[in-house]
Amino acid sequence: MRGRCPRGGGAARSTIADMETIRRRSLLYRSGLGFWCINPVQGCAHGCRYPCYAYLMARRHGRVQDWAAWRRPRLVENALELLEQELTRTRERIKTVHLCLTTDPFMMGSPEVPALSLALIERLNAHGVSASVLTKGILPAELSDARFSRDNTLGISLVSLDERFRRRFEPGAASFRARIEAAERLHAAGCRTLVHIEPYPTPRIVRQEVGPLLEAVSFVDELYFGGWNYSPLPGTSTERARFYRPQGRIVRAFCQEHDIEATVGC
Ligand code: SF4
Repeated sequence: MRGRCPRGGGAARSTIADMETIRRRSLLYRSGLGFWCINPVQGCAHGCRYPCYAYLMARRHGRVQDWAAWRRPRLVENALELLEQELTRTRERIKTVHLCLTTDPFMMGSPEVPALSLALIERLNAHGVSASVLTKGILPAELSDARFSRDNTLGISLVSLDERFRRRFEPGAASFRARIEAAERLHAAGCRTLVHIEPYPTPRIVRQEVGPLLEAVSFVDELYFGGWNYSPLPGTSTERARFYRPQGRIVRAFCQEHDIEATVGC
């Protein structure tokens, strides 16, 4: 599949023959969080059960009917064509584009998704725009190739090392070990890497220490740590505050000691 990366709207069809597709009228947008973003897939096979905020929003706005439809991803077949048009037309100087807020750019089980994401990142970089990437899949080793910018930030989402937790809450995602190994390989090849630790589970959800998790990703350049929202599972707001405050202190101290750029959001 990778050898047949789509390079334009027409070419996309042959690469994505095995997958349902949709067409969109636009791709690039400034998110409510303030940064530029693209989502070249609708839905996500990872099926996270925190629950997935993107699913809740898609359901509320009528973009998917139910959970089964959400877990059957549909590729935006004209994504490359749209990105090229939008990058050429925009008058704003865009420095970085994020993949993705409402799906996973390196989703497991559908090789068409990573193939398209790589092609989109390459296109962004060719326009002098860097990419910031976040996945619960496996970051492809190709991201360290010369055709990709070293200004890209390559991130994995990781909240535990407990595979029982992963099977329960992130059933379709890559194993924790595979995520870490892929990121570490890219870091060793000179890429900028990030770990996004959110939603970090409270002891009501899983008993774990944050230390071993931090040690497992101590190679990264950047780290984000955030709490568990959109669910009663983590406990009352008082319980959550009592738990997250000291965790945040541990995270900050660890990052300072390991020269990691840290943001603690809880
Ligand atoms: S990987 Fe992200 S988009 Fe996909 S189901 Fe999980 S939380 Fe939702």
